[in-house]
Amino acid sequence: MACLPPEAKNLPRAPQNVPPERRNGAPVRQEGLAPSGLYRPRYQKTPAMRSPDYVQLSTAAAITLGLFPGKLHRCVCTRCLNLLLTYPEGCRANCAYCGLARHREAETNYADRNFIRVDWPAVALDEIIERIAGQGAATPFHRMCISMITHPRSDADTLIVMERWRRRIPHGQVPVSILSNPTTMTRSDVQQLHDLGAEIFTVALDACTPGLFDRTRGKGVDSPHHWDVYWRVFEDARSIFGPGRIGMHLIVGMGESDKDVLTLCARLHAIGAHSHLFCFYPERGSLMDHIPATPRDRWRRMQLGRYLIEYAGHPLGAMRFDEAGVLIDFGMDADRLAKVVASGIPFRTSGCPGKERDDVSACDRPYGDSPPSDIASYPFQPNGHDLRRIRRQLGPVLR
Ligand code: SF4
Repeated sequence: MACLPPEAKNLPRAPQNVPPERRNGAPVRQEGLAPSGLYRPRYQKTPAMRSPDYVQLSTAAAITLGLFPGKLHRCVCTRCLNLLLTYPEGCRANCAYCGLARHREAETNYADRNFIRVDWPAVALDEIIERIAGQGAATPFHRMCISMITHPRSDADTLIVMERWRRRIPHGQVPVSILSNPTTMTRSDVQQLHDLGAEIFTVALDACTPGLFDRTRGKGVDSPHHWDVYWRVFEDARSIFGPGRIGMHLIVGMGESDKDVLTLCARLHAIGAHSHLFCFYPERGSLMDHIPATPRDRWRRMQLGRYLIEYAGHPLGAMRFDEAGVLIDFGMDADRLAKVVASGIPFRTSGCPGKERDDVSACDRPYGDSPPSDIASYPFQPNGHDLRRIRRQLGPVLR
């Protein structure tokens, strides 16, 4: 492996053939069970649920909404209501690191799949909207986010979810972000979402280089996504939503270099976009579940580098990388760097902002990229003990 370029590491497994009787959600469509109330993955037989009438939501959001009891480790609640479109056919893409990918229809129904490490229960959209409307200004949620998937109905149904939500929930109460699916979208779709009141538009590029993108989300895994299409839709969103209202998801640890990650962060910052970093975690059942999670020292460097570029006015050009693209020096005065680290904010989840401050994300995704025993992205403000651990993980780059 030593002779291979960084991108050639972390290769996904090849997707297996799905037997015809399991394709396109056939078991769920044939059974045709009507949904009733809350559906918790693997608790009952999977009903035939379809957006826009039904959506899935993260376990953290379901607990926060009071749909079932539960506690979140060291968090009172989540601040982001993440809604995921749902269909018996599921997502038609095959991204190698994703628990929702199409190849999984061989072994599990779409609504039962784990995604960013957790279950996603399903419930009627109207029930969610009525609960939030009933909470009024007291709602714990700082933001709602609609996650699109690759499905022929995804664009139209996202517009309907937006309309229904906006009819009942004022913008100032809970602003809305879109986690888009560029593969199926036109500029007109982006414009309509903006006109319906979406505040922020995000694109999950995930892979930081074209080659890695193709290998993990495109031809390499028989998946329909294209790097150029993602950037075209992102450019459309930039001109429609404007500076500060667009974001891009990037996963650290899929075979790219530190320099690849931070060059992209700097490029996004220069055009008024935010980068939302995720630490690679081997999602159970995905085509990359055999690959180790990103080592913490590297992840901390990338969190801090991204924060310095976006929020501390520190240029990429001041940072130094070795020949393999590993960040070896932040190029910042040690006292100033120590203050940024001591704030703890760079090590929290990154994403669309909430109501706290611009550099603190509403999208706290509790334990979406790590177990609670070895936290990658903190869903809360790190305390003194956490900061000592973070400094140890950062190691020599701080000196
Ligand atoms: S398009 Fe999104 S939901 Fe579908 S497989 Fe890829 S990452 Fe997962």
